[in-house]
Amino acid sequence: MARPRDPDKIPYTSDLRDALGWPGCALCRVVEQAANAYVVSMLWEMVNDPRNQEPLQAARGYCHRHGWMLVRGGAALGITILMKSVLDTLLETVDRHAAGGSGSPLRQLRQALNLPGKGAAPKLVAELLPQAECPVCIGMRPVEQGYVATLAAGLTGPDSLEEAFRQSEGLCLSHFIRTLEQVKSGAPLNTLVALQRQIWQNLNDEMAEFIRKNDYRFTHEPIGKEGDAWRRGLSITSGPPPKEPGQDQPGLTSGLK
Ligand SMILES: [Zn+2]
Ligand SMILES: [Zn+2]
Repeated sequence: MARPRDPDKIPYTSDLRDALGWPGCALCRVVEQAANAYVVSMLWEMVNDPRNQEPLQAARGYCHRHGWMLVRGGAALGITILMKSVLDTLLETVDRHAAGGSGSPLRQLRQALNLPGKGAAPKLVAELLPQAECPVCIGMRPVEQGYVATLAAGLTGPDSLEEAFRQSEGLCLSHFIRTLEQVKSGAPLNTLVALQRQIWQNLNDEMAEFIRKNDYRFTHEPIGKEGDAWRRGLSITSGPPPKEPGQDQPGLTSGLK
């Protein structure tokens, strides 16, 4: 297959070409890899940095996906420092609402929450809610946009990603829509829709075949590549599977220290 003449001049092209050769949505994969690199540098270099802690405190912690991405060998101290900074913020928030009452902090808080009418609970809820987005999600937005733009620009022409896309498992629905918005019209639009539609059609056919082979009349027929159509179906609609703690580095979860 033809390679870009100078991949350095087309940011992200070689990453995308590699990712299209792996299971799942290539854009999910490259963004996940970038998030992983971000998390590693943050964990080992920035856990005590206020520029890192303050946005995390405002976000009330990482989103579900990126929070559990922190789990890896040697990360216990870094995660503890980061999560403690979030808990400091949550405690300060609750205690601020309890201030002005009498008795123990818990009693003060109960008093504050039991105020009639415009009670303190809605205010407390408003302040406990995230005041900012997950910092990793924010950091990944320009990276994701760069990859989407590269894919949109690389669908046609010499050294294009068209054949790699054709051989791939296709984009998840969210990234297909993002790329559609980027290409807008012309040959790249036609190519993108044709490629993704064919991948959907092939997957749909394999799903029908899997369902047919589960009929008692045909259960003697061996299951082929349609056996994991369910996985590709989930991936192409909902995005990549959640990672179990330490999944990237098997065996390291128990040695988290
Ligand atoms: Zn995706
Ligand atoms: Zn996030």
